[in-house]
Amino acid sequence: MAKKQQTTYADKCSFCGRPASETEVLVPSPFDQNVSVCASCVDQIHQLLSDYRGTSEKKKPAPKLGKIPKPAEIRDFLDQYVIGQDSAKKYLSVAVYNHYKRLAQPTDDEVDIEKSNIILVGPTGTGKTLLAKTIARLLNVPFTIVDATVLTQAGYVGEDIESLLTRLLQAADYDVAAAERGIVFIDEIDKIARKGDNPSITRDVSGEGVQQGLLKLLEGSVVNVPPQGGRKHPEQRMIPVDTKNILFICGGAFDGIERKIAQRMNSHVVGYSNDIARRNLERENFLRHVAPQDLKSFGLIPEIIGRLPILTSLDPLDRDALRRVLTEPKNAIVRQYVKLFRMDKVELEFTEDALDLIVDKAIEYKLGARGLRSIVETIMIDAMFEVPSSKVAKFTVDSSYALEKLQKANFESTCK
Ligand code: ADP
Repeated sequence: MAKKQQTTYADKCSFCGRPASETEVLVPSPFDQNVSVCASCVDQIHQLLSDYRGTSEKKKPAPKLGKIPKPAEIRDFLDQYVIGQDSAKKYLSVAVYNHYKRLAQPTDDEVDIEKSNIILVGPTGTGKTLLAKTIARLLNVPFTIVDATVLTQAGYVGEDIESLLTRLLQAADYDVAAAERGIVFIDEIDKIARKGDNPSITRDVSGEGVQQGLLKLLEGSVVNVPPQGGRKHPEQRMIPVDTKNILFICGGAFDGIERKIAQRMNSHVVGYSNDIARRNLERENFLRHVAPQDLKSFGLIPEIIGRLPILTSLDPLDRDALRRVLTEPKNAIVRQYVKLFRMDKVELEFTEDALDLIVDKAIEYKLGARGLRSIVETIMIDAMFEVPSSKVAKFTVDSSYALEKLQKANFESTCK
């Protein structure tokens, strides 16, 4: 019956001109009998709308509170992957739990739980990104890590601020509703500090301009996001994304902030001392007292600081922590190599003194936790090459083997 009705109106699609005979159905306009649209145009429009809305028909319901891991459970989970950093773990666990609570909150009363974005301050290589990535393993909300250094003010070379949300949309498989409940980790937030004593002049095009742009996102507003990101696709349709419920976790090393903290506390950091252990200790002690006004002295604008109400610090990793990083986390470097060898049916063992040596070298060459992997890789390269074609059932790495391999690879000179 429907078909009959259509053919009595227009005999071709008003959009593409396709004759009625070439289409499954022609849908007439209820307002003008001479106007109709064919099935394939309807399909295309449907597709366009889905893209535009971020396939919003896939909307997932908000998570149920009962299923949300409790802060202590989140912390326990983080403990499996991240050594130390108890304070940051506690703050993060609570913030993530509250994020879920906010998503699940009843909307029928006057109290609106607002979000509390987080800022993690800690030396490079102490686990900021690792914490964020580990949280992501646990969560079932879209999660993305972005680097603030690529962001520039609109009109400059680099990425627009909105591209942060492009990544989140991609992580959410373009499900806008899911992305709107997601978590974004912004790394190296300190690199967009307002310039002053920061040596990189060229980055100054960003600085405050980027912070202003970021503010819009942190505050919670509807932002038009380019679904493909960047400026390479000027023709792309923007997708509106509401950032009200997106949780932002920012991380930065804030090199030198301990001096600002010391000034505020009316104390001083020796800082230029050659004694690295002492310097680290001082840095650790001061970082623990980091306060919003120190971020301001460092060059973050007060509005941004206000939107990052949870401020916590990470400790530098000392010798003991580095040693634990090697073996204890579920994904520890040593465990990864043991697994690699096990796949060749070879039992791999690192002696205690070999592990101590690896840590010593990481400290000696100031490589921190990040350097542990390159040290182990340098030590293991020959074994990984030879062992698979040998008949050995067990391979032991002791300190003399490790030292020989490091010397052979001239590891020291590659660290200079
Ligand atoms: P950043 O603080 O600069 O973001 P990352 O989290 O990227 O540092 O750390 C670099 C690497 O060092 C990690 O991938 C991990 O292997 C190791 N690492 C750093 N801190 C820790 C830690 N607290 N516990 C376990 N591993 C760590």
